[in-house]
Amino acid sequence: MRLALDEAVLAARGGDVPVGAVVLAADGTTVLATGHNEREAGGDPTAHAEVLALRRAAAKLGEWRLTGCTLVVTLEPCTMCAGALVQSRVDRVVYGARDDKAGAAGSLWDVVRDRRLNHRPEVIEGVLADECAGLLTEFFRSR
Ligand SMILES: [Zn+2]
Repeated sequence: MRLALDEAVLAARGGDVPVGAVVLAADGTTVLATGHNEREAGGDPTAHAEVLALRRAAAKLGEWRLTGCTLVVTLEPCTMCAGALVQSRVDRVVYGARDDKAGAAGSLWDVVRDRRLNHRPEVIEGVLADECAGLLTEFFRSR
């Protein structure tokens, strides 16, 4: 999560909402890929931290299935990212702050654990939640 927080800071530097993500390999420690929000930087509506990290991890492994992998992200994933997490077949999603306005991993929706879907990653929330939320609060206050 510390690494994801570093990524979130990079997002803010580029004028993007500070959210950072890391994909860990099946061993739980090797960092496969990182990502941070680049919506403003790249003019891409889908350039959320999670999507970018998942794409890079898949490129590194040479396949779309990220079975066994863990995605760590500073903010609860939105519906798009929750969908991408299910599609990527990651085993675990770890997130920091809850997103009561748009969260799709327990707050507003729970897409990642929807029993109607054939893949449901484990979800661990609240890791360094205050620090993750603090970055966001600071970012929006400064605008
Ligand atoms: Zn998202």
